[in-house]
Amino acid sequence: MAIILKTPAEIDKMRRSGEALHQVHEAVRPMIVAGASTMDLEKVAAAKMDALHAVSAFKGYHGFPAVLCTSVNSEVVHGIPSAKRILADGDIISIDCGVIVDGFYSDCAVTYAVGTPSPTTKKLLAVTQASLEAAIEQAQVGGRLFDISAVVQEMCEAAGFGVVKEFVGHGIGKSMHEDPQVPNFGAHGKGPRLKAGMVLAIEPMINAGGAGVKVLPDGWTTVTLDGSVSAHFEHTVAITKDGPKVLTR
Ligand code: MG
Ligand code: MG
Repeated sequence: MAIILKTPAEIDKMRRSGEALHQVHEAVRPMIVAGASTMDLEKVAAAKMDALHAVSAFKGYHGFPAVLCTSVNSEVVHGIPSAKRILADGDIISIDCGVIVDGFYSDCAVTYAVGTPSPTTKKLLAVTQASLEAAIEQAQVGGRLFDISAVVQEMCEAAGFGVVKEFVGHGIGKSMHEDPQVPNFGAHGKGPRLKAGMVLAIEPMINAGGAGVKVLPDGWTTVTLDGSVSAHFEHTVAITKDGPKVLTR
């Protein structure tokens, strides 16, 4: 499959999708407190999407049952909201969400601490978020795709963390997953040349311990092999002549 370049008008549409998605995240954020269930968060997100006339990109995707992925502690990605999953002080939770507005997808994930995280957890969140920001800075016309990948790997491994290899970022547009795949590991100066009009979902998934992960019997929830906690941050980013534009802030 070829990489689909977007026109400036299409990027404007994707920005509107990204703005709606940002509002969904902002509606969920104050609900992330000890005692809340992950289903409470799902309900707030679904109601906000309805109010914004934004369609969930996740619900029904290969049968996924919810508008949010809520991945707690050692869950890396694709956790399923549940009324039985109650957040406690010291937990972390990744909220991953995608919407469709006017035919265009946007995709964004944030990992939050509930109450007071341990020092290691706090460092994991800070380093993973910083690696996403550094990766976004690499999304420049004339660069190479794996420049993005390499900075994530370097920053996170230098901090002693494990970089998940089984799941990757992706091109995004009129479909949630387009070419190219955007791994969180790779070599500088390699991969496809970056061009104006590419739109990428860049999404480091980083474990406090080893890099290994497995999928639970529910077919979705992915957890670390060693039980260590895992963080996930994601933005939808357009590559333009004027530099990278984050569409989901
Ligand atoms: Mg996502
Ligand atoms: Mg994504």
